[in-house]
Amino acid sequence: MSPPFETHTLSGWGRMAPAECRVYRPEDYAGLQEAVAQVTEGTLIARGLGRSYGDTSVNGGGGVIDLTRLNRMISFDDATGVLECECGVSIADILDTFVPRGFFPPVTPGTKFVTVGGAIANDIHGKNHHGAGTFGQFVESFELLTPSGAILHCSREENADVFWATMGGIGLTGFVLRARVRLQPVRSAWMQVDYRRCANLDDALEWMAASGETHQYSVAWVDCLARGKNLGLSVVMDGNHAGPDQVPAKHRDHPLRAPDKREKVVPFDAPGFTLNPLSIKAFNTVYYAAHPTREGAMVDYDSYFYPLDVVHHWNRMYGKRGFAQYQATLPPESKAGLIQLLERLSATRRASFLAVLKFMGEGNPGLLSHPIKGYTLTLDIANKPGLIEFLHELDRILLDHGGRLYLAKDVAATAATLAAMYPRLDEFRAIKGRLDPEGRLSSSMARRLGIVER
Ligand SMILES: Cc1cc2nc3c(=O)[nH]c(=O)nc-3n(C[C@H](O)[C@H](O)[C@H](O)COP(=O)(O)OP(=O)(O)OC[C@H]3O[C@@H](n4cnc5c(N)ncnc54)[C@H](O)[C@@H]3O)c2cc1C
Repeated sequence: MSPPFETHTLSGWGRMAPAECRVYRPEDYAGLQEAVAQVTEGTLIARGLGRSYGDTSVNGGGGVIDLTRLNRMISFDDATGVLECECGVSIADILDTFVPRGFFPPVTPGTKFVTVGGAIANDIHGKNHHGAGTFGQFVESFELLTPSGAILHCSREENADVFWATMGGIGLTGFVLRARVRLQPVRSAWMQVDYRRCANLDDALEWMAASGETHQYSVAWVDCLARGKNLGLSVVMDGNHAGPDQVPAKHRDHPLRAPDKREKVVPFDAPGFTLNPLSIKAFNTVYYAAHPTREGAMVDYDSYFYPLDVVHHWNRMYGKRGFAQYQATLPPESKAGLIQLLERLSATRRASFLAVLKFMGEGNPGLLSHPIKGYTLTLDIANKPGLIEFLHELDRILLDHGGRLYLAKDVAATAATLAAMYPRLDEFRAIKGRLDPEGRLSSSMARRLGIVER
């Protein structure tokens, strides 16, 4: 007998490549185990909050197990900061519960609406990768339910090969049931932020290389319509967690309490032309003007880390056809590749509303974990005719410069591109084959990228 499911058309956050999937929503481990044991026809993949941009948690024609109801916190140790929680607990849940107690996620992406399971499966990184590394660096252990029904305890010491295959393994090794994650202590809910306008790419890279030494977090907003001597015109935002005595006076009585935010919603799909080179140019001009160089601004953590979360469903601004997010990571010696990517974008007038540049530290042993030391450039590009071919053109630039894509964002790459960018793919396939000999775990992405056969 099959457990209950509903049929939904699912896509990633970019809303491209939607596909019909059978969606199971277990409410506890027993429900998940039952689904894994009983769904023997077709394939399955886990899904968290669906914040990956492409088709990694989509399984066209197959089953998707939505794990967001497995969201219980199990234990917390004040002395070590180690939280044990179920896979569906989100970064937002962790912030709400632990910032008031003086703890913060060790690594956070640009949205707080991601689950711990999703954070592990993409081995996510934040604005502190240059110093801290990925989320995986702070995961002490997790329990993994494999397709055979076995539960493996995975850590750096036990089942270490499965631990590093699952970290960034896009859900293809099994279902992370729960994890132990080390949070970092903080003394306030505020960030001390230094803004610095940079006239071009050289200026920004030089500044970020130096400011990364003194700042835990660093990110640059890039005006990707700027050309010529202004290519790479940007505002770098460097941040450190603030102490209680630095908090703005009116909040000083409760330094660990973040100010309430009024949330907004994009209620329906905007017409496809809303974001075009002209509107984006206007936005860029306003953004640059609003961020003069200044030091020591006090910004609450929500505004610094999650500016887009204030507008729910902001992905609707791109209209029904959606958009791709392209994240290109290049080694430090490949500045020329970065320049070529920005030049192609600017020359083709495929303006990116969001363009962000970060420095990356060393990678880790995760077989498909994406970070390599160097820079990472993230671009949002509207889905207009010729987009896939254009993304393939960007892939070739990346490959020529020894770079790689981030699978959490990808919606277009080919199997050959993946194999060229991820040299440990065959090791990953071997571990997946051992854990899942019948090939029951699959996704639209895994098939597109030739990681699995069906
Ligand atoms: C506005 C925005 C900003 C972002 N910024 C960043 C950033 O700065 N850095 C960054 O690294 N990423 C960033 N991301 C991407 C996001 O962090 C990742 O895609 C993340 O993995 C999404 O988590 P999720 O819970 O939504 O998982 P989903 O997107 O639903 O799934 C992601 C993957 O996790 C797998 N998965 C989910 N749960 C489990 C589980 N319990 N067990 C096994 N596998 C599981 C799925 O099969 C899938 O392969 C951003 C996304 C958005 C929308």
